[in-house]
Amino acid sequence: MNVILNVIHREYTAAQIIAISSLFIVLIFNYCFLNGVFEAIEPNNLSQWAFYASVILLLFCLTIIVISILGGVFFPRTVSAVTLLLACLLFYATIQYGVIFDKSMIQNIAETNSREVSSYFNLSFLIYFILLGLIPAILIYKARMIGDLKSRIKSVLVINMVALTVTASIFTFLYKDYAAVGRNNHILVKYIVPFAFYDAGFRFLRDNYFYPPLPFKVLDKSPKLVPVKQRYQNLTVMVVGETARAQNFSLNGYTRNTNKFLAQTPILSFKQVSSCGTATAVSVPCMFSRLPRSKYESRVASSQDNALDIIHRAGVDVTWIDNNSTCKGVCERVSEIRFDPTQDSPLCDGDYCFDEILIEKLQQQISQQESGNQLIVLHMIGSHGPTYFRRYPDSFKRFMPDCPQSDIQRCSTEQLRNTYDNTIAYTDFVLSQLIDVLLQSGVANKSMLYISDHGESLGEKGLFLHGFPYSIAPEEQIHVPMLYWSTELSNTDFTDCVSEKLSSEFSQDNIFDTLLGLANVQSSVYQPKMDIFKQCKSIALIARGE
Ligand SMILES: [Zn+2]
Repeated sequence: MNVILNVIHREYTAAQIIAISSLFIVLIFNYCFLNGVFEAIEPNNLSQWAFYASVILLLFCLTIIVISILGGVFFPRTVSAVTLLLACLLFYATIQYGVIFDKSMIQNIAETNSREVSSYFNLSFLIYFILLGLIPAILIYKARMIGDLKSRIKSVLVINMVALTVTASIFTFLYKDYAAVGRNNHILVKYIVPFAFYDAGFRFLRDNYFYPPLPFKVLDKSPKLVPVKQRYQNLTVMVVGETARAQNFSLNGYTRNTNKFLAQTPILSFKQVSSCGTATAVSVPCMFSRLPRSKYESRVASSQDNALDIIHRAGVDVTWIDNNSTCKGVCERVSEIRFDPTQDSPLCDGDYCFDEILIEKLQQQISQQESGNQLIVLHMIGSHGPTYFRRYPDSFKRFMPDCPQSDIQRCSTEQLRNTYDNTIAYTDFVLSQLIDVLLQSGVANKSMLYISDHGESLGEKGLFLHGFPYSIAPEEQIHVPMLYWSTELSNTDFTDCVSEKLSSEFSQDNIFDTLLGLANVQSSVYQPKMDIFKQCKSIALIARGE
């Protein structure tokens, strides 16, 4: 107790406050980074240990310099306390869920609504945040400081001179070692708290706000509907799933029966499909964009036609129905229907609605449109974590015990798997009901394409949730399910042809052209080779003699 009182009542120089905060940030919140460096160099002789010690020292010096640049020269207590709080939050996300803060993760955060954020609050987070973040930050903020403004500034400048000299010396003498370790472990720098976050945040702001907006680019002024022999109406439903991973679908060989309902319908499952990103904010706009994943840039994609724009311009009635956060800009120029989760409905709990709510809306939307062609996109909430247990009603608690809490890492592996599989089993039910709605409609040509935006980690390799940098993302986060149902499957030539492709490799790069194909749209930007069904449709037409 005396020690604590001593700490509180002591007077500190501004430099000491910055140094103590920096040391705390380096030793506690940079555990993941320092541990990664340790594993990368595996020190077992004096020079390797010296190198490892230099990394800690260098990080300490850089933290001092950055806190000072961010305003620590004038407001050492405030800037140190705020940096510490931020570092505390970032460390929690990394240590608990394996999150890495890169540009797409920042975009993901920026597009996350308050409902999604609140799903991360739970008791274990609160205890952690109070003990390691709030109390140290308050102690720093309330610390007694020696001297007037002039002498405080002087003390911060002195400690920065020392930090700069040490940094320069380390780089001069150990440059080669740093270059070697950095070359083989470039991902490690993304773990440095909080600077990786600042760096990614700057890149995000630069790309989204600092650059002038691009002029909107119309990719095709006059796309047309393919003339069909019989003037059949065409109804296409595209279902954008959420956080469903391919390996948990029994249609793809999963040992648990998570596709009880769809297994009874003539639906085809593509087994080797990869996503464009590992988060909704990237995958959703990317899959509708003409840009392939390798060239995808949100700034470019959002300022040119996407698949919905082209299909709409060709004369198809396009509607986006959203039971997720938003359409991420994809539906800006077509009609959109959103649900109010506070509505008085047994399917909504005030924050979210179960995906069953899409079924009735689809029915209404189809019946409103008696003639002409239609494309309806349904955006599911699917398996959105970490509150998986809020994605399915009680009647769908098939795999038990589930994990009825948001701090999923505290549930057993079995509970987590159960709760996630319940979300998949519920998605399976909803999709089968959507097919029923399509079957009831009098439209002649109907098809439904389901694809998830990205997958999910459920504790494999110590990772949870999604949003890992794509280049090093685990299979679980990028291998997504894709399902196809159509009235055309009554044609055996067509079905046989498509069935042969079920194990071929596809990705969300194929969605743009496949969707144009399903909606019967001819366009100068259409690439037939990318349309998954094009070849099979041609074969079926030849077989029918058309
Ligand atoms: Zn998502």
